[in-house]
Amino acid sequence: MKISPPDYISKIVPYVAGKPIEELEREYGVSNAVKLASNENPLGPSPLAVEAVCKESLKLHRYPDSQGYELIEKLKSKFCLEDLAVVLGNGSDDIISMVCKAYVGIDDKVIIPDPGFLLYEISALAQGAELIKIPLKEIEIDLDAMVRASDLDTKLIFITNPNNPTGTFITEEMLVNFMEKIPETTIVFMDEAYMEFAVEGFASWKFIEKYPNIITSRTFSKAYGLAGLRIGYGVMHEDVAAVLNKVRQPFNANLLAQAGAVAALNDDVFLDRTRDLIVDEREKLSRKLEQLGFHSFKSSANFLLVDMGRSADEIYEKLLYQGVIARSMSSYGYPEFLRVSIGLEYENIRFIDSLKKILEEP
Ligand code: PMP
Repeated sequence: MKISPPDYISKIVPYVAGKPIEELEREYGVSNAVKLASNENPLGPSPLAVEAVCKESLKLHRYPDSQGYELIEKLKSKFCLEDLAVVLGNGSDDIISMVCKAYVGIDDKVIIPDPGFLLYEISALAQGAELIKIPLKEIEIDLDAMVRASDLDTKLIFITNPNNPTGTFITEEMLVNFMEKIPETTIVFMDEAYMEFAVEGFASWKFIEKYPNIITSRTFSKAYGLAGLRIGYGVMHEDVAAVLNKVRQPFNANLLAQAGAVAALNDDVFLDRTRDLIVDEREKLSRKLEQLGFHSFKSSANFLLVDMGRSADEIYEKLLYQGVIARSMSSYGYPEFLRVSIGLEYENIRFIDSLKKILEEP
């Protein structure tokens, strides 16, 4: 090919998603596969959301509301966000990429946790940013090291709370402490994709009045069970929203997604069931892993990071033959760690039983 992209685009390593169930069944000839790889909701979608999506599908010939009026109003009233702005995204991935597009120029500094969610790196590199990767301290985001690495030239800092892939949690006090040391000219992007699963959870948007450089991002993909619909949102100061809206694609939140998300916000019963299931099963799974001799780290999210004590790629591959899809963390720099999403009780048992079989292999 005679046309080449800029060097900073060539450097990007594309995102690799968790293997879909259909692909596994096709390629490995297994049936009844269990997917515990992408931190999806094992209960499925909220029934109210499904009903709303079906109803809305009769309007598929129409463009979606580019202002997302109904969903934004619903979010504002439900979470008392009247003094803040909300921007919708095609998943929260879209909010991450929008913020980079809007604020990051070539050679601007962007600080990310390492390892961390790969979209931060991809979206920042796509703007030609200078990436500063801050290694985790043990398995926690090292806020002090981020403070030390930041200066007046730092445009953006990504923080994941609870963290992916380690599940660790940053308290309100830790966040406020951190914000006090970060220049007002640096955006602090609080990615709260998993916040609903944290027993001690809080919303960083409550600090935006004091620290207008915070952007809080949330998603309907996890606790609300709508990953396939693609809808997420950012909460921010209205001046920041005005900038994001310059680069936002006008119809980025699709028709079905907006309707489904409004309905999901009305389905508190489903959200409570989801939370209860995850908290219960997380505890049970961690205990069973411990009994098998595998340490898993305390997690505030809907997954566990498990120390396999041997090649995670190998275990991942063997699990595929048993019809279980987990996620090897080797590409995150953890060659011996597996990340497993919390599933339904029978799915978690299937994972444990498959591990037992693998251990018994000669
Ligand atoms: N942030 C984190 C930390 C994630 O793990 C994910 C999904 N894997 C996302 C954001 C994006 O989720 P979505 O685009 O589905 O909202």
